[in-house]
Amino acid sequence: MRTITLIIIHCSATRENQRYTAEDCKRDHLSRPGYKDIGYHFYIERDGKLVEGRPVEKIGAHCEYHNKHSIGICLEGGLDSQGRFADTRTGGQEITLIDLLAKLKNDYPHALIVAHHELNSDKPCPCFDVSEYRQLFP
Ligand SMILES: [Zn+2]
Repeated sequence: MRTITLIIIHCSATRENQRYTAEDCKRDHLSRPGYKDIGYHFYIERDGKLVEGRPVEKIGAHCEYHNKHSIGICLEGGLDSQGRFADTRTGGQEITLIDLLAKLKNDYPHALIVAHHELNSDKPCPCFDVSEYRQLFP
């Protein structure tokens, strides 16, 4: 079993008037050199549908320098209709994310919930404040 110290939250950087499903994301990742699967372990589509990506036992590909000990979750969205960074979480996504974080914190009680941008992104990924989830699941 891998040691998991971080649960890293991302967005797909998709405009809110467009779709970018887990299947779209997987297809794009598979087209990159060296990728054999979607880079994230979980993907939450706009309607709140949870799609399991890379198995949690496998190292993901979503956050440079931090993949080995982390789980990556991506929410579809993150840009407004003009392409500006925006909190586009839907109610369904919030419910699914909280359910998923509760389960993961049960399995990995010492893992810290963090935003991608808190580690190494030059973009504000995932375009919302994750500290509320860190307070819910310290
Ligand atoms: Zn990210």
